[in-house]
Amino acid sequence: MNKDFLKTIKPQSRGKSDKYAWFIYKYLFEQSKAGALKYYKIMWCRKTQNSVANTEFDNRKENSLTNIYLITDIDGISGVNLSNVIMGKFYEVYFDAINGEDFKDITEWFVKEYVLKGRCLFDSTHTKYFTDAEHRFSILDESNKVCNWCGCAFKKEVEYIPHEKWVINEDQRHQDGR
Ligand SMILES: [Zn+2]
Repeated sequence: MNKDFLKTIKPQSRGKSDKYAWFIYKYLFEQSKAGALKYYKIMWCRKTQNSVANTEFDNRKENSLTNIYLITDIDGISGVNLSNVIMGKFYEVYFDAINGEDFKDITEWFVKEYVLKGRCLFDSTHTKYFTDAEHRFSILDESNKVCNWCGCAFKKEVEYIPHEKWVINEDQRHQDGR
């Protein structure tokens, strides 16, 4: 990763996320200050601490994003999980060894997608709760809105859900006299 990427993903206000997550910026900024940014890679890991995911990395599925780590080339055995970084938790996770089969370098894909979509990368359905998200949508009219982070447009649809209930059968009551 390079400093241009860092500059692009810097939120407008200090300490506050917008399209981009404050803590991702903060973590990478600290690595940059230490001269380590260029050694960082973004890796998807098949193994989590407790289990092994039997799936391949699928960049269309959000659940893959929970297995994303920022890992340095320098030691190659420790990293921080992105889902923790987003919450401001920068504790390191250690791996037994970096095994090529268990890790996939997704740096290029991630950098491109994160610049484009920001935090929406972690919520393509736009249904999750995010902090500092009060300016996420622009309401165009009563049935249209647009996401200010990734540009995704939404239209309102009304859904009628069938509802079962028991009612007195008036016909039957008259027939047998009860
Ligand atoms: Zn969006």
